[in-house]
Amino acid sequence: MQLADTLQVLCIVSVALVVALFLADGGAARFATPADALTSIGVLAGLVGTDLLLIMMLLAARLPAIDRAFGHDSAMALHQSLGKPALYLILAHAVLLIVGYSLAGKISVFAEVWRMLTVLPDMVLAFVGLGLLVLVVVSSIVIVRHRLPYEVWHIVHLLSYVAVLASLPHQLTVGALLAAGSPQWFYWLALYVGVAGSILVFRFILPVVRSLRARLRVEGVDRVADGVVSIRLSGHNLRRLQAHSGQFFIWRFWTPGLWWQAHPFSLSAAPTGTSLRITVRSLGDASAALGGLRRGTRVSVEGPYGLFTDRARTSPRLVLVAAGIGVAPIRSLLETATFLPGQATVILRSHTVGDSYLAYELAELCRARGAEFRIIAGTRPPGVNSWLPADALAARVSLKTLVPHLRDADVYVCGPRRWTDEVVRDARAAGLPTRQIHCERFDW
Ligand SMILES: Cc1cc2nc3c(=O)[nH]c(=O)nc-3n(C[C@H](O)[C@H](O)[C@H](O)COP(=O)(O)OP(=O)(O)OC[C@H]3O[C@@H](n4cnc5c(N)ncnc54)[C@H](O)[C@@H]3O)c2cc1C
Repeated sequence: MQLADTLQVLCIVSVALVVALFLADGGAARFATPADALTSIGVLAGLVGTDLLLIMMLLAARLPAIDRAFGHDSAMALHQSLGKPALYLILAHAVLLIVGYSLAGKISVFAEVWRMLTVLPDMVLAFVGLGLLVLVVVSSIVIVRHRLPYEVWHIVHLLSYVAVLASLPHQLTVGALLAAGSPQWFYWLALYVGVAGSILVFRFILPVVRSLRARLRVEGVDRVADGVVSIRLSGHNLRRLQAHSGQFFIWRFWTPGLWWQAHPFSLSAAPTGTSLRITVRSLGDASAALGGLRRGTRVSVEGPYGLFTDRARTSPRLVLVAAGIGVAPIRSLLETATFLPGQATVILRSHTVGDSYLAYELAELCRARGAEFRIIAGTRPPGVNSWLPADALAARVSLKTLVPHLRDADVYVCGPRRWTDEVVRDARAAGLPTRQIHCERFDW
């Protein structure tokens, strides 16, 4: 069984286990009256919802096993897709318990909420947790998220940790399901401790230790094009980072304006024992400021992450397709990927022949390694979704016509999201199975 399958089975098992906790506590017998039925369904919704929240946190905890199984972007996509179901279950939990208790006590729902807040232990914290959770999920809805600066969204998102912690006390003190010392209590606390420990180790302790050991500093900043720079970094024993061409790190540059934010950038040159390189296009405040970095600036990293490496290869031939700044991981992959002369093709898509980043370096590498190098330039066809320019599309050009032995190749694609989707569609249309198509997305 693949690692990804095992992890998916473990997720399903964890949900099944919380249902088992409910049944073991005699939950199935508490459906005799409408009040009991509402309360029981509410408790179950709360247990499953909280379990989903903990799974979401694990998916975002950057565990090496999860990164290896899904890749960071797929893990984050799964994390996002669980957000709404988890919130709906937790909201259902709150509403069903309020209505269920009010029916049982024969009081209004408002009087029941007041009773909960004033009589039951730890309920104020639980309501605070619920409010924060609503805030986090609303801030992540696409339309809201795109209006917020990334950093504001990120800080709001971190409140989900506070929300989950704030809700824990009432789970342990209200009702008998998780009574102190019971097997359910041990299991539930072990879940919380496991998730909190993973976050602490993999998001905080390991990156700090690795960064201290690597002693990374900016060695130089080279202009590549208007608004695009390559940043060379030096460090110690960088092999211990076990980074591979095509992977990315999350970088923090220790200057007064930048130290408080960290951004993902892919390696644009093969990592060595003493050096790393990234190539950055200015898209916002932080990426623009990186062009002004001084030599000697300290740098810390989280990572390496990502499956966009030669280790994901399944076939002897290689096709690398890039647009825009997506050229960065493609450039490093080309440097170290395994292929014989004549077995690799590099395709750069740009508006004009001269506006591709790192084209000169790629051309040199292709020449040295015996790979075919193509630049496909031209404007987009109006009103049609295609990764190719209008004239190429009219001439029925496709990946299949560009790369004769495509079926024996792995295709690596990196570029803007929609453009990447079109390349993937073309590769699929040519009969390539999913395992031979690899994408790196620059947005989560
Ligand atoms: C896996 C991955 C690899 C990447 N590799 C490269 C690369 O090699 N070269 C390159 O130029 N760019 C790369 N990017 C994109 C780069 O991370 C963003 O352009 C950069 O973070 C923008 O930050 P900003 O403050 O300048 O702009 P902002 O205006 O803050 O943001 C511009 C865009 O970048 C996104 N963004 C901002 N900060 C982050 C963050 N910390 N994490 C995720 N997304 C963020 C925002 O949501 C927004 O869509 C990569 C992104 C990802 C996810």
